[in-house]
Amino acid sequence: MRIVVKVGTSTLAHATGRLNIRRVEELCRILSDLKNFGHEVILVSSGAIGMGVGKLALKERPRDIPTKQAAAAVGQCELMYTYDRVFQEYNHTVAQLLLTGSDFRHEDRYHNFQNTLERLLELGVLPIINENDTIATEEIKVGDNDTLSAMVATSVGAKRLILLSDIDGLYTADPHKDQDATLISEVPSLTPDIMALGGDEGSALGTGGMRTKLHAAQICTEAGCEMVILNGALPSLLYDLFDGKAVGTRFLAKSSEKEGENA
Ligand code: GLU
Repeated sequence: MRIVVKVGTSTLAHATGRLNIRRVEELCRILSDLKNFGHEVILVSSGAIGMGVGKLALKERPRDIPTKQAAAAVGQCELMYTYDRVFQEYNHTVAQLLLTGSDFRHEDRYHNFQNTLERLLELGVLPIINENDTIATEEIKVGDNDTLSAMVATSVGAKRLILLSDIDGLYTADPHKDQDATLISEVPSLTPDIMALGGDEGSALGTGGMRTKLHAAQICTEAGCEMVILNGALPSLLYDLFDGKAVGTRFLAKSSEKEGENA
């Protein structure tokens, strides 16, 4: 199965912006194992800005664009250095692809991206994608990696997008504020009631939130790709998911009922 896994800053880094080594090592080990099993894995990783904040010892996530871009330039190196080193332990080669929203709108660049990604997968490489934050300004950026990962998943015909987040999945209400909130394990369709559950807050270091995740679900499910939100604090949930257990929140692909016919 071709899968895209998106990992958020809050999963990769401690609140200080420094790398959560135990988490990253566990994640890379499990993704390596999924690849060994035969799945084609594409990783969309946030963390460039967050890790730049840690490395530059900034007090908080920068608000001005030049400092954000500088932090991303520093942090992206740290991120890829780490992935390269850890995946190497399991004999997997990684590649870095940095994209902006305009790359998806520009026909030639979009095809180049698709061709490169296909070839990397054929070569057995594990592509790691992030927004090119060092050049992305408001007009050209995607803006958040939930949306970027959904755009990547649909452009390469992935069957499943998994968002690793700092929450177990989609709840009936904000679980930080409402004790009665319960986890929704399956979303057959994105009704207005479901869409209304998207808040707008991300973490202190990251960008996303439930709203961008529901937007990503719209992009994916429309294109026939299912999306799953899992808690990134427990990377082993990935094994449970592939073992067919009900974990996190699963957003069913629109065409999934036709899957049998197309197989
Ligand atoms: N591209 C940003 C980064 O690497 C993250 C965007 C997001 O968290 O959605 O820091």
